[in-house]
Amino acid sequence: MNTSSTLLSKSIGLRQMFYLVLPNEANFEYYKQVPEYINAALPYFTGMILVEYIMCIFLNVRRLRISDGISSASAGLMQQIPKLVIKSLAFPIYLWVNENYKLYSFEWDSPFTWYMSFLLLDFGYYVFHRLAHEVHVVWGAHQVHHSSEDYNLTTALRQSMFQHCFSECLYIPLGMIIPPSHYMIHVQLNTLYQFWIHTECIDTLGPLEYILNTPSHHRVHHGRNIYCIDKNYAGVLIIFDKMFGTFEAERKAEPVVYGLVTPLASWNPFWTQICVYVHMFKRMYNIKGVKNKLSVLLMGPGWTEGSPRLGDPSKLPDIRAPQPRYDRNISNAVSVYGLIHFVLIIAMFDFFIRKQQYLSALSLSVGILLILFSLLCFGFIFDDKEDAISFEITRLVTVFIGTFIGERFDALDPNTALIIRFVIIVSIGFWVSNHFNKKKKVE
Ligand SMILES: [Zn+2]
Ligand SMILES: [Zn+2]
Repeated sequence: MNTSSTLLSKSIGLRQMFYLVLPNEANFEYYKQVPEYINAALPYFTGMILVEYIMCIFLNVRRLRISDGISSASAGLMQQIPKLVIKSLAFPIYLWVNENYKLYSFEWDSPFTWYMSFLLLDFGYYVFHRLAHEVHVVWGAHQVHHSSEDYNLTTALRQSMFQHCFSECLYIPLGMIIPPSHYMIHVQLNTLYQFWIHTECIDTLGPLEYILNTPSHHRVHHGRNIYCIDKNYAGVLIIFDKMFGTFEAERKAEPVVYGLVTPLASWNPFWTQICVYVHMFKRMYNIKGVKNKLSVLLMGPGWTEGSPRLGDPSKLPDIRAPQPRYDRNISNAVSVYGLIHFVLIIAMFDFFIRKQQYLSALSLSVGILLILFSLLCFGFIFDDKEDAISFEITRLVTVFIGTFIGERFDALDPNTALIIRFVIIVSIGFWVSNHFNKKKKVE
């Protein structure tokens, strides 16, 4: 093997993040052979976030806030948790459609099949994404991705726990054409491609702007300025937006203000996931008539009685930069504490992914509950809630006791258990000194 081909094969992990792979590099006959590209991308997510952070410093671009970054990554983690229990509800139906209703048997190792699958899946994403903005019940499962008021690589991780239910169902008809292995390949690569476009560090990309979904195009999609609403639904190719009239170029004179039209104003990971559904069901309950109730569910999120399907655009607030962003006045020490413990939870989640087939249902359930409770505690800490410290101490004590139980049942080796206990004792000491410092300041 010569140097260039070695370099090419070694760089595949990084190239997958940009869809820069050739058909012969990601092609499998059976869907069970397709690697877990997204799970394997964790080091690239982390590395690219760090590179972006450094670039932001040099380019003098707005930097990542720990509170927002953790909130986004928590949503990403919550999205992955159901997959620990069940891979996919819709994929068996996709296999059944492919088995019984396929229109043609495409050769699995043909480059034509590979490129056709890429194109059809990307179009499928465009359709799903447009529905996710134009149908309220689907928007409830997509709004999480738009709830950040920042725009950086961590925003890409901010995903809904429920989005897969809708997107995978919508992809089922593709089973008539795309072979299951190609579906598995492209659904993952399409998702990975959408990671790097969440950045303010890249301005525009010359001629690529005509064909590809770029950071500039996707910034518009995340905007709440009037000209950004319901625009640029692309996954990889921007051509579908241009074909169907939903394209809008970024305007330098009107800097994009990111986030939801009505800001979320919370770091609570559970509220981030369900807030739109709570408002939607309240509206359904209060509005009179079955037709109106169904309209709340199936029309656009901005629909009101008597308005067009997607709501009255003249009623949209004229949002222009600069706008204040939600944050609480917490100390840098508490922020760093939150970051360290969040990284430990990521490590724990990574452990569950790698060992899930060896773990009992009970260990897995306890682990998932602990991860979810930890994310809730971090949300309370960053929201500066009154009972945040009580919640966090409860979490730490629970884990402390849990290490003895884990050790007793051989789920945790003694050295790891000892390190965890040490971290917990230091952490409790941190909260005690933090409490007394706060008290001193008040006095
Ligand atoms: Zn969207
Ligand atoms: Zn996005």
